[in-house]
Amino acid sequence: MRLAWGPCLLAAVGICALSQDESTGRRAEIEVLHVKANVYLIAGAGANITVQAGDQAVVLVDSGPAEFSDDVREAIRKISTKPIGYIINTTVDRDHTGGNEALARGGFFMLTSANQQRQTASIVGHVNLLNRLNATDGKQRAATAGNWPTDTYDGPDWKLYANDEPLLLEHPAAAHTDSDTVVFFRRSDVISAGDLFDMTKYPVIDRKRGGSLEGILKTLNHISLDLAVPKENEEAGTYIIPGHGRICDRYDVAIYRDMLTIIRDRIQDMVKRGMSLDAVKAARPTYDYDGEFGSQTGPWTTATFIEAVYDEVTANPEGKAKPNK
Ligand SMILES: [Zn+2]
Repeated sequence: MRLAWGPCLLAAVGICALSQDESTGRRAEIEVLHVKANVYLIAGAGANITVQAGDQAVVLVDSGPAEFSDDVREAIRKISTKPIGYIINTTVDRDHTGGNEALARGGFFMLTSANQQRQTASIVGHVNLLNRLNATDGKQRAATAGNWPTDTYDGPDWKLYANDEPLLLEHPAAAHTDSDTVVFFRRSDVISAGDLFDMTKYPVIDRKRGGSLEGILKTLNHISLDLAVPKENEEAGTYIIPGHGRICDRYDVAIYRDMLTIIRDRIQDMVKRGMSLDAVKAARPTYDYDGEFGSQTGPWTTATFIEAVYDEVTANPEGKAKPNK
């Protein structure tokens, strides 16, 4: 599928709204897109926000940054007037978790009957996510307690049920970080992948927070080989929502996986030949992909991506993937 949508290109099926955050001057250009069956995408408020709606409640995957919560709530109301029951976080970054507290308020607690009087949604994440949000972590200060997950799981997966649909949560041991969750809406046939899959840039391999390229590759393989099913000619079928950027299908995931494998192999080969990091950068091992995914500015440039791959390959020159589950 090649849905290269820019701002409001899909206005016929989406809903656009412009708003400005007064404290930062940032503008959010919010789009609401129907993905498939019960699942929608709210784009434009930081990270992608997946919305599942039905008779019971609204389920969110990620919550955007705190400053856009009012806009996100307004966008959700265009999809459903039901209260928010679950907010599932795919990763620890604040553009995915910053709106947890504000959006959980006024929801209802779906998980345990004893707590159903609570007027907040359940915030769900892997236990590593809680451990990273409640502590000062590198440069990032601890998040306020209202943003922490109220319900965690500590194994490789967890199963929830909402709106007559199974929600399969899977935790890759080391992908973008060590705190990630991939969410599979099994009846709607939509996967929310989080930042291990990013159509706007090379994936952020957050090695300081337990991330690894081998884990990202393993998870992309799992999504494209085990979970996603194409409809015909490798196109459509299961849709995959990346952490950032356009809606994708299995073919897009496979192409992204192939690109990362090729870049990893090139850098691995250079390391085996004894090349220094500077020499590897000068050889431009990402050259043919930089037009689509490279960046010279911002927190995750092409150079930082190459550095992360180089560090991982140097630490593990044979390229053997660590067990991911
Ligand atoms: Zn992100």
